[in-house]
Amino acid sequence: MIAQRQSRPKLKLADFHLLRTLGTGSFGRVHLSQSRVNHRFYAIKVLKKSEVVRLKQVEHTNNEKHILEKVAHPFLVNLWGTFQDDGNLYMVMDYVPGGELFSVLRKSQRFPDHVAKFYAAEVILAIEYLHSKDTIYRDLKPENLLLDAQGHIKITDFGFAKHVPDITWTLCGTPDYLAPEIIQSKGYGKAVDWYSLGVLIFEMLAGYPPFYDDDHLKLYEKILLGKVKWPSYFDPWARDLLKRLLTPDLSKRFGNLKGGSDDIKRHRWFDGVDFNKVLRREIRAPYVPQIRGEGDASHFDRYPEESEPYGQAQSDPYREKFPDF
Ligand code: AMP
Repeated sequence: MIAQRQSRPKLKLADFHLLRTLGTGSFGRVHLSQSRVNHRFYAIKVLKKSEVVRLKQVEHTNNEKHILEKVAHPFLVNLWGTFQDDGNLYMVMDYVPGGELFSVLRKSQRFPDHVAKFYAAEVILAIEYLHSKDTIYRDLKPENLLLDAQGHIKITDFGFAKHVPDITWTLCGTPDYLAPEIIQSKGYGKAVDWYSLGVLIFEMLAGYPPFYDDDHLKLYEKILLGKVKWPSYFDPWARDLLKRLLTPDLSKRFGNLKGGSDDIKRHRWFDGVDFNKVLRREIRAPYVPQIRGEGDASHFDRYPEESEPYGQAQSDPYREKFPDF
């Protein structure tokens, strides 16, 4: 007789203690949480349904769930399950305790070459994996790169990720990291992630993104023009690679050519990096966060807590918009 595989029971709010806020997004927040069942810690992303609808993020939120539950990769956050109540959607993820790479970068101001290379290499493998599944990530930036207890990268926030076998048009992402073709409202594809990899590597090495301006319109003009002021301390090979990632010309952008992501991995800046070892997490991280116990959240900033309790019975006009939660 063949044993029937037992499907995991659906998670519910009563299974968890929701503890302090770890981070906030534009329509929700992420809580450190502890399971009442196995007492382990998780990160639960809570999205207010009315806000998701008001900000026209229904499709993006459903994409986020569908994509996260299908992916499995050492450098992507793991989703354990989702559920909803009358007011909110909940996504239960692994708790990644080392905090955002953003915080480490701001504290260090900028990273030495080998540190930037380590994080870039892990990110490249994660993006390469997503692209192999015809998925674009669309929101690469240091705020979305978390560090696990050993200091390796976990990419979180799949709110803009999308299954895109060819091209798409939606204007979304974060201003400093937007590829020129997104700003120009052209159809665009996977190459936008390689562009934002360029922004990320630049920001890690310089401490600021390549096209900085408080005024978004001026920022977009700079991105379209593509003229970068290169800090003198940049390694010449870093500069060479970044030129090939930050180019508005899609027929020249690395990652988007015949050689695919291999062009990036084989570039001279990555000389000596064994990507097989990187994938097996065998390269020792340059910075290992100090974690005092499983639920330690000291690497995350404090945020004002939500005053409305979760799980309250109320009218629920949007349930049918999120049928799979
Ligand atoms: P998001 O709305 O997905 O961008 O998440 C907002 C913030 O919550 C992130 O920038 C992180 O600081 C934090 N966060 C998200 N997911 C996790 C996680 N799995 N573990 C720990 N913190 C997280």
